[in-house]
Amino acid sequence: MAAELIIRGGIVVTAAGRRTADVSISDGRIVAVGESPAVGESTRVIDAAGLLVLPGVVDVHTHTRVATDAQPDRFFQDSVAAAYGGTTTFLAFNNPGTGSEQTGSLPTDIAAWRRQTDSDSAVDYALSLVLQPTHHDLAHEIPKAIDAGVPTFKAFMVYDFALPTPALEVALRATADFDGLLEVHGEDKAALEANIATLLAEGKTAPRYHADSRPPHVEAAGTRTAIDMARAAGAPVYFVHVSCRAALDEIRRARAAGQQVFAETCPHFLALDESRYDASSDEEGLQYVISPPLRAPADRDALWDALRDGGLDLVATDHVPDRLAVDKRLIGQSFDQISNGAPGMETLLAIVYSEGVQRGRVTVERMVDLLSTTPARLFGLNNKGSIEPGKNADIVLFDPQERRTITQQELHHTSDFTPFEGMAAAGIVRSVLVRGEYVIRDGRFVGRRGFGRFQERRLAWR
Ligand code: MN
Ligand code: MN
Repeated sequence: MAAELIIRGGIVVTAAGRRTADVSISDGRIVAVGESPAVGESTRVIDAAGLLVLPGVVDVHTHTRVATDAQPDRFFQDSVAAAYGGTTTFLAFNNPGTGSEQTGSLPTDIAAWRRQTDSDSAVDYALSLVLQPTHHDLAHEIPKAIDAGVPTFKAFMVYDFALPTPALEVALRATADFDGLLEVHGEDKAALEANIATLLAEGKTAPRYHADSRPPHVEAAGTRTAIDMARAAGAPVYFVHVSCRAALDEIRRARAAGQQVFAETCPHFLALDESRYDASSDEEGLQYVISPPLRAPADRDALWDALRDGGLDLVATDHVPDRLAVDKRLIGQSFDQISNGAPGMETLLAIVYSEGVQRGRVTVERMVDLLSTTPARLFGLNNKGSIEPGKNADIVLFDPQERRTITQQELHHTSDFTPFEGMAAAGIVRSVLVRGEYVIRDGRFVGRRGFGRFQERRLAWR
């Protein structure tokens, strides 16, 4: 039978290889990848000659904010930004700073968040639940959340909503028993708080001291603690935003011993380094108040090595749409009071392609694995992440010949800055399809609010 849509003559890239091929699509799904597909009278054809045909990017780490009366468009607008960047599915956390309703119960949190984001996204999306000290019955509620299609959870070891050790143990056991996955923000709370106290006592309050308060050993110690707890619980564990060699070494050691440990890093650790803190005024330094902080060039190189050799599984953004003029405004407060985070949702593919593929650090196949195939598989988006028959037709047409400069002015996210301002980027996203429908066409948003579907997930690899 003739396909409804054919993407013709592009270079189709999967994690396993690349070849010139036609992609046939019907009912929002890929039905064939190959040559000479059947063309019917009503078949639409997209000419992709000279373009890379990539699976849509799956960003598993965002703090996208839900709509409020004052900012009714902020969830939608960041989903549009995602689309512009080539991201066709994103996962959001429901931590307090996102405006998500905090109900004290995981199943009710899911219902509340789904209501708050209903009919609001331009691309497909899903939820990862943030576990908090106010959740009292994790042993019973984690399996209920998993049944409701939310099998991934995040526990913070720091901040005022850090999960106490006994609750962390319960969460690890419950995710182990019911095919979930716990994501951990690994930093050592005691070491961090001691560092902050020392710096403040010395009068070191400027944004740049944020980095001094969180040296690599603070991250490595938190990572080691969580690895030990996961091993004791017999649970798999996933580390968000790994930033340095010291934390990476802990992960490599655990894996070598046969433990099921997964880890991501983020574009800012791959493209920027700690010299930004010294080169910046206090106002500019606010942009880089992110946790963990930017690291040394040697750490950046170690992360690229790990992306190449499998020591890291994927890249995700840790997108926080803070605005310098509002959320991060410097009003005389010390570094420890400044909102943590930077936007990145729209620049994920651009950074990894430019800094990774263009500079010869990873192959384009490996990039597809890191940005699409592995995140989709690991996070239970079983219909997504690859250009192969049966998968959703979530596709990016990428022109590797074009060049652009990343500037806030040209971005669409809800933040008012990008940490990548002025960076030269290789390649541009020409068009993006979600389930076979154009969302970005020739560089313009043509999608619609509410087209994106909430994805109930199941971790098939467990
Ligand atoms: Mn975090
Ligand atoms: Mn985060």
